[in-house]
Amino acid sequence: MELLKEIQSVFAKAEVARIYFGNQNILLEQQYGFTPGNTRFAEGGCCDEINELEYRLMENYWGERFKFGGLAGYCHGGKTGLMAVAHHIPEADGQKNLLLLAGPHIGFHRGQWGKVPRKGQTGITASCGSLATVLQTGYAAICEKSDDRLDRQQQSVEQLLLPYLEK
Ligand SMILES: [Zn+2]
Repeated sequence: MELLKEIQSVFAKAEVARIYFGNQNILLEQQYGFTPGNTRFAEGGCCDEINELEYRLMENYWGERFKFGGLAGYCHGGKTGLMAVAHHIPEADGQKNLLLLAGPHIGFHRGQWGKVPRKGQTGITASCGSLATVLQTGYAAICEKSDDRLDRQQQSVEQLLLPYLEK
C-alpha cells in the first residue's frame, strides 16, 4: 500500500486495478443494465503483456474480449474494428452494450515514472515502451521519418503525439 500512496501523491484518484474494475463492473450493471449476457467487452489497451492481468480480470467477468488496441493503448482497430465488434454484441433483456476499455499505461518503479522490472530480467525496462520511444525520438526526428510498412502502429502513435511534441 506504500506504493499506492506514492502513486496517489501524483494521481490522487488512483486505485488498485481489481478494486477499480470490480466497482465499475457493479456500477455498470446496477445503473445501466450492463450484464455479461448483453455486453461485448472490447479492449483497446497497449499490447504490453504487463497489462494482461487486468484484461483477463475483465475478460473473466464479461466474457471473451474483442482485441481493439495495440501499442500505447491507442485503438488501432479504428472504424473497421468498431464496425466488426458492433456485429458481435449479444442481446438480452432488450439491451445490447459495448464496453470498450482503452488507454495508455505508465510504469512506476522506485520513484521512477515509465519504468518497470520484468520477470526474468535484471534491468529495468520502459513502460510504456512505445510512448517512451516517441519521447526519445523527438519531434524533429519523427518529422524526418519515412513510411515504414513494418512499423505502422508506432508511426500512428508518433503522428498522434506530434502536435504535443512540437509544444
Ligand atoms: Zn505500452
